[in-house]
Amino acid sequence: MTQLQIRGAREHNLRGVDLDLPPRALVALVGVSGAGKSSLLLDTLLAEGRRRYLDALAGGEGGLASPDVDWVGGLPPAVSLGERVLDPRERLGDVIGVLPLVEALFGRLGAQRCLACGQVSRAMGVDQVVDEVARSPEGARLFLEAPVRLGAGGAAAVLPEVARAGFSRVRADGEVLRVEEVRGQVRSLRVVVDRVVWRQDKRSRLEEAVRLASTTGEGSLVVVAEGAERAFTTGPRCPACGLERPVLEPGLLSPRTGEGGCPSCGGTGAVAGEPCVLCGGTGLSASARAVLLGATGLSELLTVALSDLPDALSQIPDGPVSRPVREELSRRVAVAEGLGLGALPLGRRVSELSGGQVQLARLARLGGAPLEGVLYLLDEPTAGLGEVEALAVLDLLRSWVLAGSGVIVGTHRLSVVRAADWVVEFGPGAGARGGRVIFEGSAEALAVAPTPTGDWLRGTLRPGPPASRPIRRRVEVAGLGLGVGALVAITGGMGAGKSRLLALAEAAAAGAGLSPRSWASAGAGRTSRSMPATYSGVWTHLRQLLAASHEASVRGLSASDFSLNTPGGRCELCRGLGVVKVELGVLPPVWRRCEACGGRRFTRELRSVRWRGWSADELLERTVDELLAVSGAYPRIAEPLRALSELGLGYLPLGQPGHTLSGGEARRLALARELATGGGEGRVYLLDQPETGLHQVDIIGLIAALHRLVDGGASVWVATRSEALVASADQVVALG
Ligand code: ADP
Ligand code: ZN
Repeated sequence: MTQLQIRGAREHNLRGVDLDLPPRALVALVGVSGAGKSSLLLDTLLAEGRRRYLDALAGGEGGLASPDVDWVGGLPPAVSLGERVLDPRERLGDVIGVLPLVEALFGRLGAQRCLACGQVSRAMGVDQVVDEVARSPEGARLFLEAPVRLGAGGAAAVLPEVARAGFSRVRADGEVLRVEEVRGQVRSLRVVVDRVVWRQDKRSRLEEAVRLASTTGEGSLVVVAEGAERAFTTGPRCPACGLERPVLEPGLLSPRTGEGGCPSCGGTGAVAGEPCVLCGGTGLSASARAVLLGATGLSELLTVALSDLPDALSQIPDGPVSRPVREELSRRVAVAEGLGLGALPLGRRVSELSGGQVQLARLARLGGAPLEGVLYLLDEPTAGLGEVEALAVLDLLRSWVLAGSGVIVGTHRLSVVRAADWVVEFGPGAGARGGRVIFEGSAEALAVAPTPTGDWLRGTLRPGPPASRPIRRRVEVAGLGLGVGALVAITGGMGAGKSRLLALAEAAAAGAGLSPRSWASAGAGRTSRSMPATYSGVWTHLRQLLAASHEASVRGLSASDFSLNTPGGRCELCRGLGVVKVELGVLPPVWRRCEACGGRRFTRELRSVRWRGWSADELLERTVDELLAVSGAYPRIAEPLRALSELGLGYLPLGQPGHTLSGGEARRLALARELATGGGEGRVYLLDQPETGLHQVDIIGLIAALHRLVDGGASVWVATRSEALVASADQVVALG
């Protein structure tokens, strides 16, 4: 494999980056948040990989725009995690990719228990039935019979029809009679389709008879050999009682199909937080739960721990279907076990997994199908994980390199940086102050380099001295007293219950007369419709200034014409975003410049109105810091902008669509809004790992901001793994 060569990368803030990266190596991209790591990783390398892939599929015309880069050489097929939205019907085993395999086993090899009579039977093809029957000893007398369902008219109503179809004998209540000999009340009736004295050379006659019996019996037939009866079904009916049922196939076992999903909860297993009564929380329909593999139903398997799954399936006989599926399944389970997921039941709902566990499960899925000669591109693969789990992920990445693939990760995790074969640092700052390569080399060399990450490795990046405010009042939460008017750090490993404690704390704070506010989710402000300008509230004031201009009054324009949320002056094709979403089917969607407005967001008339020389669209291109510099006379604009700048977001353009913000950026945006509006006395902020996705430089800025909230009279309760944050807290609560 040749080197990966990048020339003139200019996506977003990248300043014509040139890089040569080693192939078949673990490469770490580092730098402060917003420095340009993901602009290179995802928006350049992954985008180029996808473009080439689609071009190859479409014979040179895939239609994806090239990323802004002069040249990329030596790029292997690129593989990434993507940002798939999780479906509430998904379970751990779906994310890892083992449940589809289990469903395949049940669908191909299982049997169905009849919902009416309880008889367990398996639908077979005609060939399989013939194979079974052909095992009878030579000379055996075989009766091939088709069950007849008796309606209100009894046997008398159907017998003429049987005779008309050309059959002369029936079995009525166990006795074989000629059609015209049947008398009186009959409880069970079967048409005798054929009688055969079995010899191997009569196979084609047998096949003919089985086929005829199964069509006559609408999928059910009975073979009587020397007095012993065997019922077979080749169609969607119970051979014993004739009840109709769905055809057994893998899809029948999935809560995501109409036949497999519980009709009450729609496959989610829970209704309003309670397990669904109809399906017992399994999310499966009655027909799906009636499928058995050996003696086991799928709903029982869902409660089995991942590690025990291969054992639980060991009673299935070896065969052409079961062998490859089981091998694949064991490999996937082994990878998931390596990542510490072995003890979790495979049916655990994604909604009941922590963010870290979901991340591990997605990595396990990638790792379960190891590929050779590809390039794995992963942004923050260890985000939200504890150190133990992060090291397990590192092992997985290493195994890919050993298998002959390349791995490039964007990361803020020092253990990953130290383990990398090659490190590239972007910076020195964020946004326009970043976008350059400020270091490339080994991790040892980085440890003596004069860069932000070099400082971090040397341990010289520390927050100010601990606050140690006296705690005068506490709120009782699950036996712990959390300080009011203080910065409280809640620590503990994965699964220790940090997030649960935060949820309890929110209720307890409200009960104690405080007003809690939670940012447990990382999704704040990350929809395309919310950009820094609107989210922070400054656009409301900026559009009033635009409307107050002479030009606007001449044209009769009001502040609402400059709204991004309502029609009026904005471009209606992109609704003021400047970009439009293009769906690509199986690939994630891409965003393209809006053709109607050319990315200018507003109608031509509105763009003629200016404030400080900038039109509305130009104002939205300004960064937070640029606008802050000229808005000193307008506190309602300057305050929110200052908060953003203090949190390290001064580089963000005001009109950057929310969906392009990183998780770290989105969360700081939400925090800045609180800082600007001033929480004050009685406010309790609950934060779940706000350090996720941030460089130590940014974490230190974050810590300072949290302390300002506390200085303003608020309480900040934060679940965290950041040593720096713990070190500067007034109170530390260690769980588990
Ligand atoms: P990092 O991964 O190092 O945190 P990014 O590559 O995400 O940094 O961001 C680099 C710069 O590019 C930041 O200023 C960010 O706001 C900006 N940026 C990221 N995505 C987009 C986008 N889709 N459109 C415009 N600017 C973007
Ligand atoms: Zn437009």
